[in-house]
Amino acid sequence: MEDDISALARHGLFEARLPRYTSYPPATAFTDGVAAAFQAESLAALDPAEPVSVYVHVPFCERLCWFCACRTQGTRSLAPVEAYLDALEAELALVRRLLPEGVRMRHLHWGGGTPTILTPAMIDRLAGLVRAAIPPAGNWDFSVEIDPMMVDGERIAALSAAGMTRASIGIQDFAPEVQAAIGRIQPFEATRLAVEALRGAGIASVNADLVYGLPHQTQARIEATLDRLLSLAPDRLALYGYAHVPHFSRRQKLIDETALPGDIERLLLFRAAASRLTAAGFRQIGIDHFARPEDPLSRAAANGRLRRNFQGYTDDGCATLIGLGASAISRLPGGYVQNAAATAAYRDRIASGRLAGARGHRFRGEDRLRARAIEMMMCDFAIDTGALAACFGEEAALSLEPDHHRALARFAPYLTRSEGFIRLSPEGRPLARLVAAEYDAWRDLKARYSKAS
Ligand code: SF4
Repeated sequence: MEDDISALARHGLFEARLPRYTSYPPATAFTDGVAAAFQAESLAALDPAEPVSVYVHVPFCERLCWFCACRTQGTRSLAPVEAYLDALEAELALVRRLLPEGVRMRHLHWGGGTPTILTPAMIDRLAGLVRAAIPPAGNWDFSVEIDPMMVDGERIAALSAAGMTRASIGIQDFAPEVQAAIGRIQPFEATRLAVEALRGAGIASVNADLVYGLPHQTQARIEATLDRLLSLAPDRLALYGYAHVPHFSRRQKLIDETALPGDIERLLLFRAAASRLTAAGFRQIGIDHFARPEDPLSRAAANGRLRRNFQGYTDDGCATLIGLGASAISRLPGGYVQNAAATAAYRDRIASGRLAGARGHRFRGEDRLRARAIEMMMCDFAIDTGALAACFGEEAALSLEPDHHRALARFAPYLTRSEGFIRLSPEGRPLARLVAAEYDAWRDLKARYSKAS
């Protein structure tokens, strides 16, 4: 069934290549001139009364799935992982020396790559190092990305002992045809056993990551995947659009481009999945997350506290995110800093006694105002012009008027203005990234982002 939005797709609107707006400015605007010195002065100036979030990147996988564009490297040996932990220990020591006394960690996330490539002893070591450098606040939470093919009872016990409260399970799609086409074989049974083990270890929240827009994916297959997943009773789901960027991720060249769904099919795949999930009682959160009504993410969305960061949607209200490890990005009060991306370059920087920041961006001009407007659109599908004026001043908020007019003209009738809000209608929600891009003064038209559909 084709409707208005599919008609927009036929006019090529979703051919646009856009940032995902997990940060503003997008990482493509980062420059080499902003790095370790800015990182050091920003960490030293943090307010101890404000808790921080911490992200640890583990850039190793035993298998390299063809569809994945994450910064990671394949290894069957633990030797490079041990060497990397040594570098993380040295980075944490540098951070600890800089942070003012009393800074506490509210959220910790381990992502990758495959954090569960770490052995139980490595998990104990890394968790202890992070906690010693940045002690947890009383009500902290700790989430970890779990590969069901690369986890066992001992690792889950170690993560549980380290304080893990939320597990994010990578799934993508259960259909064997799709798994073969993306180079990631993962039987349903492996996922089921991992979820059971996590629940058995007392992990309170289990999330699942799916992807739509994969080769050979059909509505029937994605619905069947969801039915199997729903039998495991997840608390949250992320349903990311597959980003085909073979110029950036060379292993995606193994993907058969002729088997990829087109823009209209992508939208219909998402819509079929969203219908299945909302019928099962989930709420849609932002453009690509779903959560049960009692989940903290749903509550944050309902009361205007939903935020967007490098991990997607979150109820994490911390203004500062300290990124640790190769390629990790820190969001600091004055801007962003990204650590050296290649593992060897990261280790070299840390070994020389410096922080690993290699590029970044200092906020200037209207950056914070535009960042908040874009975040509102991506989180709430509405820009609250009154809230922007209250936060940034009337004059600054008025500077967005040309952008409002351009967006309203371009996306009518889905985008309307009333009572101080620029609002996207429910039917217009697939346009959210396109609308957000109207407020992006840093968008690099030469950068090759993922498609907007
Ligand atoms: S999907 Fe996960 S396991 Fe596969 S390459 Fe990416 S990070 Fe590694």
